[in-house]
Amino acid sequence: MSKPDFDRLALIGIGLIGSSIALAARKTGAAGHIAIHSRTAETLERAEELGLGDSYHADAADTVRDADCVILCVPVGVSGNVAEAVAPALKPGCIVSDVGSVKASVVAQMTPHLPESVHFIPAHPVAGTEYSGPDAGFAELFENRWCILTPPGDAGPDALARLTAFWQRLGANVETMNAEHHDLVLAITSHVPHLIAYNIVGTAADLETVTQSEVMKYSAGGFRDFTRIAASDPTMWRDVFLHNRQAVLEMLARFSEDISALQRLIRYGDGDKLIELFSRTRAIRKGIIEAGQETDAADFGRPHGKHDDDSD
Ligand code: NAP
Repeated sequence: MSKPDFDRLALIGIGLIGSSIALAARKTGAAGHIAIHSRTAETLERAEELGLGDSYHADAADTVRDADCVILCVPVGVSGNVAEAVAPALKPGCIVSDVGSVKASVVAQMTPHLPESVHFIPAHPVAGTEYSGPDAGFAELFENRWCILTPPGDAGPDALARLTAFWQRLGANVETMNAEHHDLVLAITSHVPHLIAYNIVGTAADLETVTQSEVMKYSAGGFRDFTRIAASDPTMWRDVFLHNRQAVLEMLARFSEDISALQRLIRYGDGDKLIELFSRTRAIRKGIIEAGQETDAADFGRPHGKHDDDSD
């Protein structure tokens, strides 16, 4: 196996994404030593039982000492607190990154705490499932998925190249863009779809008991695909909506306008317009399959296992 991209990698948070990074880094030889921290003893012990790393630390600052790359894998709302906790122990020249589903807020929270001697390059692997915790991870999670880096203007090109090489080694395709643009794009491709799923499942949950049991029984009609997304981690998603508020509200306003327009088409029986829209949307799905981000197998190509892809 060729030389690791990082001799020592520190993962702060070892849930779905942290454990998948650990497993992928081990499998591909992308990291020499993998140091792991989680805030609870229970999660840390489970990570050790699963053999996800080489050292396990109850203290976040201890984890990052001597690390060449530190990746925060925690809910976006606590990025600032975690950055503050690890900052004094960061090795000069090390790369500090994260995996948060929102970028501008993470940058605003973390930057004030980080010393100038480190390279801060935020990242978001657009890959995931509705499962959480250290048991949920798998080494193939990032294969052929996008990892978006949002380097600040003054990010060192060498550090950027190293982090890019690391993610590529984990199987991801790497793209760079600015944090605000990331947040706008992800608002429509991920955040608003999750909100719609939470909403439709919530509406069904509020129905009378009899109707509710029928919802379960006949869920293959489309509803169950929403329930998979709506089973995603509540804390993570609370933080996503609170920290990408502006872009989500902007996309939601457009969504509401468009759904009102659809309402009118149905009310006035305008079948031609409905066909026009449904044909355009079919073409979008074809494009996603052609881009290798979904299969065209029946039943959404999902094996109904823990590796169902949610790509947020
Ligand atoms: P997860 O499986 O729920 O794991 C979360 C980790 O963060 C755990 O180690 C947990 O520690 C720790 N944590 C939770 N609350 C914390 C707090 N208040 N302070 C310090 N640590 C805390 O979550 P995940 O799915 O890996 O998500 C982690 C990050 O990845 C999030 O920022 C999310 O936006 C991003 N992301 C998620 C997905 C996805 O599909 N899930 C995809 C791409 C990016 P304990 O278990 O010890 O409490």
